[in-house]
Amino acid sequence: MNPRISALSPRAAAYVVRLAVEKRLVSAAQAKACEEEAAKPGAAGNVAALLIGGGFLRESDALRLLDDQTTKVRSSMQSVPTMDRHIGAILIGAGAVKVAQLEAALAEQAKERAAGTTPVSRLGEILVGRGYCTRDQVLAALAEQTKVILTCSLCGTRWPQADYQPDRTYACKSCGEPLVKPETKPGV
Ligand SMILES: [Zn+2]
Repeated sequence: MNPRISALSPRAAAYVVRLAVEKRLVSAAQAKACEEEAAKPGAAGNVAALLIGGGFLRESDALRLLDDQTTKVRSSMQSVPTMDRHIGAILIGAGAVKVAQLEAALAEQAKERAAGTTPVSRLGEILVGRGYCTRDQVLAALAEQTKVILTCSLCGTRWPQADYQPDRTYACKSCGEPLVKPETKPGV
Protein backbone atom coordinates (compact mmCIF):
# COMPACT_ATOMS: atom_id res chain seq x y z
CA MET A 1 0.00 0.00 0.00
CA ASN A 2 1.13 3.54 -0.74
CA PRO A 3 2.85 4.99 2.36
CA ARG A 4 0.76 8.15 2.12
CA ILE A 5 -2.25 5.97 2.88
CA SER A 6 -0.70 3.55 5.35
CA ALA A 7 0.92 6.37 7.37
CA LEU A 8 -2.40 8.14 7.99
CA SER A 9 -3.39 8.36 11.65
CA PRO A 10 -6.77 6.80 12.50
CA ARG A 11 -8.41 10.22 12.69
CA ALA A 12 -6.83 11.41 9.45
CA ALA A 13 -7.85 8.18 7.72
CA ALA A 14 -11.42 8.68 8.97
CA TYR A 15 -11.34 12.19 7.52
CA VAL A 16 -10.15 10.90 4.13
CA VAL A 17 -12.95 8.33 4.13
CA ARG A 18 -15.49 11.02 4.97
CA LEU A 19 -14.30 12.92 1.88
CA ALA A 20 -14.46 9.74 -0.20
CA VAL A 21 -18.08 9.21 0.86
CA GLU A 22 -18.92 12.82 -0.02
CA LYS A 23 -17.36 12.31 -3.44
CA ARG A 24 -19.24 9.00 -3.79
CA LEU A 25 -16.03 7.07 -4.31
CA VAL A 26 -17.22 4.68 -1.65
CA SER A 27 -20.68 4.07 -0.22
CA ALA A 28 -21.63 5.25 3.25
CA ALA A 29 -22.54 1.68 4.20
CA GLN A 30 -19.14 0.33 3.15
CA ALA A 31 -17.41 3.16 5.01
CA LYS A 32 -19.43 2.44 8.13
CA ALA A 33 -18.68 -1.29 8.02
CA CYS A 34 -14.96 -0.61 7.68
CA GLU A 35 -15.07 2.05 10.42
CA GLU A 36 -16.48 -0.57 12.79
CA GLU A 37 -13.78 -2.98 11.66
CA ALA A 38 -11.07 -0.35 12.19
CA ALA A 39 -12.34 0.45 15.69
CA LYS A 40 -12.04 -3.18 16.87
CA PRO A 41 -9.31 -3.87 19.43
CA GLY A 42 -6.10 -4.92 17.72
CA ALA A 43 -7.10 -3.39 14.39
CA ALA A 44 -4.70 -0.80 12.94
CA GLY A 45 -7.47 1.80 13.00
CA ASN A 46 -6.77 3.03 9.49
CA VAL A 47 -10.19 2.87 7.86
CA ALA A 48 -8.88 4.16 4.51
CA ALA A 49 -6.38 1.29 4.33
CA LEU A 50 -9.13 -1.18 5.21
CA LEU A 51 -11.42 0.11 2.46
CA ILE A 52 -8.62 -0.10 -0.08
CA GLY A 53 -7.53 -3.52 1.17
CA GLY A 54 -11.12 -4.74 0.92
CA GLY A 55 -11.39 -3.52 -2.65
CA PHE A 56 -14.10 -0.95 -1.83
CA LEU A 57 -11.98 2.10 -2.56
CA ARG A 58 -9.38 2.41 -5.30
CA GLU A 59 -5.95 3.41 -4.04
CA SER A 60 -5.57 5.79 -7.00
CA ASP A 61 -8.85 7.49 -6.04
CA ALA A 62 -7.71 7.89 -2.44
CA LEU A 63 -4.38 9.36 -3.56
CA ARG A 64 -6.11 11.76 -5.93
CA LEU A 65 -8.33 12.81 -3.06
CA LEU A 66 -5.27 13.54 -0.92
CA ASP A 67 -3.70 15.52 -3.77
CA ASP A 68 -6.88 17.52 -4.33
CA GLN A 69 -7.06 18.21 -0.63
CA THR A 70 -3.42 19.40 -0.55
CA THR A 71 -4.11 21.74 -3.47
CA LYS A 72 -7.23 23.04 -1.77
CA VAL A 73 -5.43 23.66 1.52
CA ARG A 74 -2.49 25.33 -0.27
CA SER A 75 -4.75 27.71 -2.16
CA SER A 76 -6.76 28.49 0.96
CA MET A 77 -3.48 29.34 2.70
CA GLN A 78 -2.77 31.96 0.09
CA SER A 79 -5.82 33.81 1.26
CA VAL A 80 -5.30 33.75 5.03
CA PRO A 81 -7.67 36.65 5.50
CA THR A 82 -5.96 39.95 6.10
CA MET A 83 -8.97 41.35 7.92
CA ASP A 84 -8.80 38.54 10.46
CA ARG A 85 -5.45 39.84 11.54
CA HIS A 86 -6.46 43.47 11.53
CA ILE A 87 -6.28 44.86 15.02
CA GLY A 88 -9.75 46.40 14.64
CA ALA A 89 -11.28 43.12 13.52
CA ILE A 90 -9.69 41.31 16.46
CA LEU A 91 -11.11 43.89 18.88
CA ILE A 92 -14.56 43.56 17.33
CA GLY A 93 -14.30 39.79 17.42
CA ALA A 94 -13.42 40.00 21.12
CA GLY A 95 -16.41 42.27 21.76
CA ALA A 96 -14.08 45.06 22.93
CA VAL A 97 -15.30 47.70 20.48
CA LYS A 98 -18.38 48.23 18.32
CA VAL A 99 -18.26 48.47 14.54
CA ALA A 100 -19.34 52.14 14.61
CA GLN A 101 -16.55 52.93 17.10
CA LEU A 102 -13.96 51.25 14.91
CA GLU A 103 -15.26 53.14 11.89
CA ALA A 104 -15.02 56.43 13.77
CA ALA A 105 -11.44 55.66 14.80
CA LEU A 106 -10.49 54.63 11.26
CA ALA A 107 -12.04 57.85 9.95
CA GLU A 108 -9.95 59.85 12.41
CA GLN A 109 -6.84 58.02 11.22
CA ALA A 110 -7.76 58.72 7.59
CA LYS A 111 -8.27 62.41 8.40
CA GLU A 112 -4.83 62.62 10.02
CA ARG A 113 -3.31 60.89 7.02
CA ALA A 114 -5.06 63.26 4.62
CA ALA A 115 -3.84 66.23 6.66
CA GLY A 116 -0.28 64.96 6.39
CA THR A 117 0.10 64.38 10.15
CA THR A 118 3.16 62.31 11.02
CA PRO A 119 3.18 59.96 12.65
CA VAL A 120 -0.47 59.07 12.23
CA SER A 121 -2.01 58.01 15.56
CA ARG A 122 -2.18 54.29 16.05
CA LEU A 123 -5.64 52.80 15.94
CA GLY A 124 -5.28 51.44 19.48
CA GLU A 125 -4.31 54.90 20.78
CA ILE A 126 -7.37 56.47 19.20
CA LEU A 127 -9.70 53.77 20.54
CA VAL A 128 -8.29 54.06 24.05
CA GLY A 129 -8.18 57.87 23.82
CA ARG A 130 -11.85 58.01 22.95
CA GLY A 131 -12.67 55.65 25.79
CA TYR A 132 -13.98 52.96 23.44
CA CYS A 133 -11.83 50.25 24.97
CA THR A 134 -9.09 49.78 27.53
CA ARG A 135 -5.33 49.64 26.99
CA ASP A 136 -5.37 46.02 28.20
CA GLN A 137 -7.87 45.09 25.50
CA VAL A 138 -5.61 46.64 22.86
CA LEU A 139 -2.59 44.79 24.26
CA ALA A 140 -4.52 41.49 24.20
CA ALA A 141 -5.54 42.14 20.58
CA LEU A 142 -1.93 42.90 19.64
CA ALA A 143 -0.84 39.59 21.20
CA GLU A 144 -3.54 37.86 19.17
CA GLN A 145 -2.32 39.58 16.01
CA THR A 146 1.23 38.27 16.36
CA LYS A 147 0.07 34.66 16.59
CA VAL A 148 1.19 32.53 13.70
CA ILE A 149 -1.75 30.89 11.98
CA LEU A 150 -0.93 27.29 11.19
CA THR A 151 -3.04 25.32 8.75
CA CYS A 152 -3.75 21.60 8.82
CA SER A 153 -2.20 19.99 5.75
CA LEU A 154 -5.13 17.59 5.46
CA CYS A 155 -8.40 19.13 6.65
CA GLY A 156 -7.39 22.79 6.28
CA THR A 157 -8.43 23.86 9.77
CA ARG A 158 -6.56 26.93 11.00
CA TRP A 159 -4.95 26.99 14.43
CA PRO A 160 -3.48 30.24 15.75
CA GLN A 161 -0.29 29.51 17.67
CA ALA A 162 0.96 32.07 20.18
CA ASP A 163 4.39 30.61 20.97
CA TYR A 164 5.22 29.28 17.52
CA GLN A 165 8.68 27.71 17.17
CA PRO A 166 9.83 26.89 13.63
CA ASP A 167 11.70 23.73 14.66
CA ARG A 168 8.71 22.24 16.45
CA THR A 169 6.06 20.17 14.73
CA TYR A 170 2.44 20.85 15.49
CA ALA A 171 -0.46 18.47 14.96
CA CYS A 172 -4.03 19.30 14.01
CA LYS A 173 -6.31 19.01 17.03
CA SER A 174 -9.14 17.78 14.87
CA CYS A 175 -7.52 15.18 12.61
CA GLY A 176 -4.00 14.71 13.96
CA GLU A 177 -2.14 15.52 10.75
CA PRO A 178 0.82 17.95 10.72
CA LEU A 179 0.15 21.68 10.65
CA VAL A 180 1.99 23.84 8.15
CA LYS A 181 2.87 27.50 8.28
CA PRO A 182 1.85 29.73 5.37
CA GLU A 183 4.90 30.88 3.45
CA THR A 184 3.52 34.34 3.16
CA LYS A 185 1.80 36.05 6.03
CA PRO A 186 -0.55 38.61 4.54
CA GLY A 187 -1.81 41.09 7.03
CA VAL A 188 1.08 40.75 9.45
ZN1 LIG B 1 -6.74 18.48 10.38
